[in-house]
Amino acid sequence: MTASIDHIAVDVLPGGPTLPQERRLVTAIPGPRSEELLARKAAAVPTGIGHTAPIHAVAAGGGVVVDADGNSLIDLGSGIAVTTVGNAHPKVVEAVQRQVASFTHTCFMVSPYESYVAVAEALNRLTPGDHEKKTALFNSGAEAVENAIKIARKHTGRQAVVAFDHGYHGRTNLTMALTAKTMPYKHGFGPFAPEVYRAPLSYPFRDGGLSGADAARRAITMMEKQIGGDQVAAIIIEPIQGEGGFIVPADGFLPALAEWCRANGVVFIADEVQTGFGRTGRMFASEHFGIVPDLITTAKGIAAGLPLAAVTGRAEIMDASHPGGLGGTYGGNPIACAAALAAIDAYETEDLPARATAIGSVITDRFTEAQRSDARIGDVRGLGAMVAVEFVDPATGEPDAALTAAVAKASIAQGVIVLTCGTFGNVIRFLPPLSLGDDLLNEALDIVTAALAAA
Ligand SMILES: *Cc1c(COP(=O)(O)O)cnc(C)c1O
Repeated sequence: MTASIDHIAVDVLPGGPTLPQERRLVTAIPGPRSEELLARKAAAVPTGIGHTAPIHAVAAGGGVVVDADGNSLIDLGSGIAVTTVGNAHPKVVEAVQRQVASFTHTCFMVSPYESYVAVAEALNRLTPGDHEKKTALFNSGAEAVENAIKIARKHTGRQAVVAFDHGYHGRTNLTMALTAKTMPYKHGFGPFAPEVYRAPLSYPFRDGGLSGADAARRAITMMEKQIGGDQVAAIIIEPIQGEGGFIVPADGFLPALAEWCRANGVVFIADEVQTGFGRTGRMFASEHFGIVPDLITTAKGIAAGLPLAAVTGRAEIMDASHPGGLGGTYGGNPIACAAALAAIDAYETEDLPARATAIGSVITDRFTEAQRSDARIGDVRGLGAMVAVEFVDPATGEPDAALTAAVAKASIAQGVIVLTCGTFGNVIRFLPPLSLGDDLLNEALDIVTAALAAA
């Protein structure tokens, strides 16, 4: 079907959960129609905007993405942990349709509306800790992170912010400064925001199994000796690092940092943009580690694909800003809020965190089993449906980015969308939608393990 808006023609197909949940290849990937779009993309869109799957998506539903050539790909990436409830979830579609027909925008700072407040109430209720909380809404993960830092600085009257090795917090100027990896996120894009410091992480696979307590002591020593505890406004950390390689810190690391923050009047910010909303088997990953962050940033899974992000935290910190100090034209757009309320309803009523745990054990079991006879699999790790496989050269233990890229490429060519990550580019990460059934999940894992065997 082609919908025409004057001279602009765009492909639209009915998607949603009625799409057959199947892997179906009818052409090579990319097929001719996808090739056509990729040529137009190359001419019209800057090279800086990359893509993982060389396809021209025309529909998606549940756990599949359909391209213009009629191929149906199994989605193990959820558009980077966004369509966690499943693509075009019926509750989300209905809520969005109802809202878009009612009003599209007023600007919450001009004429407030209920859905924004309801999203804030839901996040205040769902995030860790039973203290009084408040929530402000924004458009992207990076914008939420920027605002969390603004709030922490205003509250403490201090400037220094500490981020961690392998951390990823976004692509705006301040969040580039917070992000560890230069290529592709920072290279040539400086100068970066000042008063950002980097502390060492706990990375059990690569730090010789340093205990969580020792790794925390190392980071705390760095902060005390290089910055001074009374100079630090906030530390920001992903409870499990996303882009950095799904690094799960050793037990005790995060609680020791949180304790140090409490003792020094430092705001502890958990960046749960990737780990949030049931992904790890709990509503928020912080819960696994027994930490209660002062502020928590969320985005990705929050609204099932509509652009929305949030900062939620202790009321007295959130209220540090003077009136008018926070906000933005689109932040908490009513259509995105409607989608978020529907998605949050799905997380809660469809028991999706439990499904994340079940999906995660299927993936983990497959690769732990494969690891027994394949020394290229250095590490299998993660929590819930956030699982990573780190590939190494068996002879040297060095990261093997080439193998990782080859496995991802071959999997996509066979109709399974997988993503890579990691500071060394040697990690395949699995972020399937939690609506994905076991049949499709196993079929997708068969493809990935076959691609690995053949690589
Ligand atoms: C993706 C991500 C961000 C940035 O979110 P955007 O919506 O892309 O700006 C920030 N922090 C973490 C942990 C992320 O995974």
